[in-house]
Amino acid sequence: MNSLSVSINSTRLQERIQTLSQIGRIGETGVCRLALSKEDYEGVMLVKSWMEEIGLKAKLDDFGNLIGRWEGSHPEAPVLMLGSHIDSQPYGGRFDGAIGVLGAIEAVQTLMEQKITPAIPIEVIAFCDEEGSRFNKGLFGSRGIIGKLEEGELERADKNGITRRQALLDFGCDPERFESSRYPEGGIAAYLELHIEQGPVLEAKGSPIGIVTGISGPLWLTVEMTGVAGHTGSVPMNMRQDALVGAAKVIIALNELARSEPGAPTVGTVGSLSVFPDSINIIPEKVSFTVDLRDIDLNRRHRLEKRLMKALADTSEEHGLSYTVREDTNSEPRYCADWIKEIMRDKASSLGIPVPELMSGPFHDALVMSYVCDYGMIFVRSRDGISHNPKEYSSIEDISLGTDLLYQTVSQLLSETQWEGAHE
Ligand SMILES: [Zn+2]
Repeated sequence: MNSLSVSINSTRLQERIQTLSQIGRIGETGVCRLALSKEDYEGVMLVKSWMEEIGLKAKLDDFGNLIGRWEGSHPEAPVLMLGSHIDSQPYGGRFDGAIGVLGAIEAVQTLMEQKITPAIPIEVIAFCDEEGSRFNKGLFGSRGIIGKLEEGELERADKNGITRRQALLDFGCDPERFESSRYPEGGIAAYLELHIEQGPVLEAKGSPIGIVTGISGPLWLTVEMTGVAGHTGSVPMNMRQDALVGAAKVIIALNELARSEPGAPTVGTVGSLSVFPDSINIIPEKVSFTVDLRDIDLNRRHRLEKRLMKALADTSEEHGLSYTVREDTNSEPRYCADWIKEIMRDKASSLGIPVPELMSGPFHDALVMSYVCDYGMIFVRSRDGISHNPKEYSSIEDISLGTDLLYQTVSQLLSETQWEGAHE
């Protein structure tokens, strides 16, 4: 790997990744930087100081996004945006999101060192609350800047009852001023994101980096099933309306549905469950759980969702339960722009290694940005495919290659004279 030379500065990049990982650090390699938390703020301020150090004009917008801007020779032109996020899962790792923001800073710094003046403005962005684990709804900052927030989002509360509105205010943001942080239509020329793969595909292929073809669409639901509580010692089995037994059957149904079409990349998961009253000797009265269903093929996902709803209805009837379903997120698959993939392919071939193309199962801020501009993504190999965990690991050699491809792509993109006409 050392034989591959890159234009970016790996040592500098590695130092920044290491320094940022100390904020909200848990154990040896874990990170907990929940969105809009004290640790998140500290991280944002650190990254902001690096942006300023290299000469970007940096600010925190009212959605909690950190933006570093390089004006270029036509400040009024649509911006080329590069970025990702620096918030983490509660028990997360140091690479998810972070390499996309720090890699973008590195790519820009390398361009600056080559005395290039971009024709259009370049912005490096660390989006606020990509993960969604604190308020059960992610991609907040990216949805914010393109005007895709939903009714009632600011009133969503975390486990401690703190609403997003309050958390934003505590972060120094003003929800009353959201409008001023939005981008006008056509204001973003293109978006590029570097990210860890968070899956095992690149490792299995023996490839350090990959070019993303698109992002599969997640459906997130919260299901609540309600039965009747009772003493576990006195209510006979045939007279029970046990909400947890019903929920267990639906969870298994989801697992089986997601496997039902051989070869399909469909994935279905229940990752969170809460039982009321949660006691050893009371029959569960109420259970709520999350559903996460993803697919590249939207029609197939719709079909599976219908079958899941039928399993929910049938099980509820069988066990005398009532239920509600709340849709938290519903995104369709979104494909990367061909012309950006073309540049990446071209640049990757000059790196002298095969760079495979692959879909993204996880969603990213790029998914949101795809609604307002063309986008491209680069993946970096994840060891054992692990992410959202302290064991998450990508080598600095791999990250450097990914960052270099990002840099090469930006550089090429800026030098294209037909740039204005290359996208709709
Ligand atoms: Zn991420």
